[in-house]
Amino acid sequence: MNQEFDASYDVVVVGAGASGLSCAVQAAKDGLSCAILEKEAQTGGSSAFAEGHAAFESDEQKKRGITVTKDQAFNTYLDYSHWRADPPLVSRFVENAATTIVKMRDEVGVHYEDVTVTALDQPGELVTWHLPEGEVARVIELLEADARRRGVDVFLSTAATQILKDADGKVIGLVAKDKDGQQVRLGAKAVVIGTGGFAANPEMLDKYTKYGIGEKLINVGGLGNTGDGITMVLAAGGTEHNSIGTLLLFPFMRDKTITSHTNCTGMQPYFWVNATGQRFVDEVVGMSFGNAGDVTAVQPGAFYWSIIDQATIRHLVADGNEIGLGIYVRNNEKMVNLPTEIEADAADENRTNVVKGETIEELATNMGVDPGVLRAEVDAYNELCANGADTKFHKPAKFLRPVTEGPFFAIKMETGIMISMGALKIDEHMRCLDGNGNPVPGLYSVGCDAGGMFGESYALPIPGSANGFALTSGWLAADDIAAEITAGAL
Ligand SMILES: Cc1cc2nc3c(=O)[nH]c(=O)nc-3n(C[C@H](O)[C@H](O)[C@H](O)COP(=O)(O)OP(=O)(O)OC[C@H]3O[C@@H](n4cnc5c(N)ncnc54)[C@H](O)[C@@H]3O)c2cc1C
Repeated sequence: MNQEFDASYDVVVVGAGASGLSCAVQAAKDGLSCAILEKEAQTGGSSAFAEGHAAFESDEQKKRGITVTKDQAFNTYLDYSHWRADPPLVSRFVENAATTIVKMRDEVGVHYEDVTVTALDQPGELVTWHLPEGEVARVIELLEADARRRGVDVFLSTAATQILKDADGKVIGLVAKDKDGQQVRLGAKAVVIGTGGFAANPEMLDKYTKYGIGEKLINVGGLGNTGDGITMVLAAGGTEHNSIGTLLLFPFMRDKTITSHTNCTGMQPYFWVNATGQRFVDEVVGMSFGNAGDVTAVQPGAFYWSIIDQATIRHLVADGNEIGLGIYVRNNEKMVNLPTEIEADAADENRTNVVKGETIEELATNMGVDPGVLRAEVDAYNELCANGADTKFHKPAKFLRPVTEGPFFAIKMETGIMISMGALKIDEHMRCLDGNGNPVPGLYSVGCDAGGMFGESYALPIPGSANGFALTSGWLAADDIAAEITAGAL
């Protein structure tokens, strides 16, 4: 062992989410010695919340009669990103995502229950969302067990802090802080960064986006996603991708869980007003949570109110919602908890994000909105409903539900964040590139830290892209590292 280091490996992976664990397992399969560091006390990161992952022409799709071609996927990624995504990287992912499904199922033990879409009524969404039994949390469990079984050293509560390079600029390892707070130095022929982006870092969110609402964003993903890997790579000579700052936002109630029926009601495409009491959008945007998040983030105070009356509550209970929230509230699920939950929310003195009013004027006062303004908006909206045509924002008539029968409720939907993506410039081998487009020797990035898959927003027409890319980029990086080591290049 090199005396400079406490231990040395072929590969050290930073971050034990989907991308990092996929990389570590594959590295072991490729015969490389490998350590994986996770700064939290458990593996999983934001991946532990994900429901499914994208693949194209997979055997799981084929056996269900689902046709989504690689051509369709490739072109959708490029079109949707306005060609800001990197074609060679997109191509590598699209070509290899179906193999990820085979690996997860046949080698790791994942069972796929379904392949579907996330949002009904979203035109053009491809059927790519492969849903594993036990969600991605189960995939993480299986990957971690597989990594350990294959001899990967898994260090929990251990945060990487600095990438080390030699005088020629080649990566030789990293510095980390272990679970006892002690500094450790690990040698490595290659370091793979998969720290999951910066959704939990308000300063970086403000630095890399124009929203200026870093502190207000409600992070529902991993607490450890503080952008450490991005900071380390930039300090080690890597560079930013042009899409740094791309965020997956969505409307969300503060202090609620993603299974809440009040929260899900707030996303229904019925009647929304912003902090001024005015309707501001075709609420059908709520059918696609990422787009709805982008709309919410730019409203005054970065929130909107979703207003419902008693008839709509009865409709949601009897007929079900128009749109669920992932697998946490299913599409068309009957919202049976809603009547009790929303009453309790409104009565809760510690909660100010659900208010009730016997009249629209009382509701407005409780919302902190001018009663005259809200009254006028409700009247105008009810007239559109009566006419069966939304001549203001052109919402489909089937979602025009009048607001007439009190008591009324208003649900405050703030801006939630699932992930950031698109930070670091990499090539199709997952190698981090410097400002001249040359690889930083021995430095790789995968998953949400890596840029090149998306443009200014997440590719919602291809559900499961983030987790699919995380899993696929992980094992591809390991294979490339193995090939480079074999060739004597690392
Ligand atoms: C509620 C929710 C639902 C989602 N659903 C889906 C879905 O259905 N489909 C989909 O495609 N995507 C989904 N996503 C997004 C998806 O989870 C991620 O895009 C993807 O899985 C991220 O994988 P990753 O490996 O890049 O990051 P992560 O899974 O976040 O892993 C990164 C890990 O690195 C660790 N880390 C950070 N800094 C350090 C450090 N200095 N040293 C060591 N470790 C460090 C973190 O603690 C974390 O565990 C969802 C996200 C959320 C929050």
